[in-house]
Amino acid sequence: MAYIFNAGTGYQVIVENQGLQTAVATVSSSPGQQQSQRTSFNTGTWTAPPAAFRTPAGIVLEITAAQGRYFVNVTATGTSTVSDAPNLAGAEELPAQEGVMPAVRGMEPMKPMQPMQPMQPMQPMQPMQPISPVEPMKMGDMEMRMNPMEMRIGNMSMSMGNPPAAAVGKNFCSQCGAAVQLGDRFCGQCGHRLM
Ligand SMILES: [Zn+2]
Repeated sequence: MAYIFNAGTGYQVIVENQGLQTAVATVSSSPGQQQSQRTSFNTGTWTAPPAAFRTPAGIVLEITAAQGRYFVNVTATGTSTVSDAPNLAGAEELPAQEGVMPAVRGMEPMKPMQPMQPMQPMQPMQPMQPISPVEPMKMGDMEMRMNPMEMRIGNMSMSMGNPPAAAVGKNFCSQCGAAVQLGDRFCGQCGHRLM
């Protein structure tokens, strides 16, 4: 929750404790135009509501936080912390209203990083469907056959390697009993790892 102090005609000082920061916004509005500035100071958590005083030098905010008291000098030209307690004798204390800190475009403080989401567990890899050694792949007049690899384009053909005879023989999955090729790493039926 923010505290709003009306510092003068169309001029407001809004202060809010945001975590360990004290954010101070000044808003001055003239007809058709609103100007706002926003600054943050590292003060720690407030232990008492803020107070604002009108002094000849400008508005002085008094922030009472766990780490101590802070005075913030708010003038038309800027907002700055004051190291020494200013003389507030005779200063007019401004009444506070509760409100909302205005959003100031382009001057938003950095939002804290969202904590990393834990990694989603990986979906187990689906085993590759083995390319049927029986049905050749056909694309136009191109024909491709696995085990042994053989490629035929038109009346031109080429083959690669001559696997041992056993490698083209039938084998069976020890998990589900489906017929698999000896060279297959996974059963095409149940995904059981074969090698
Ligand atoms: Zn299987």
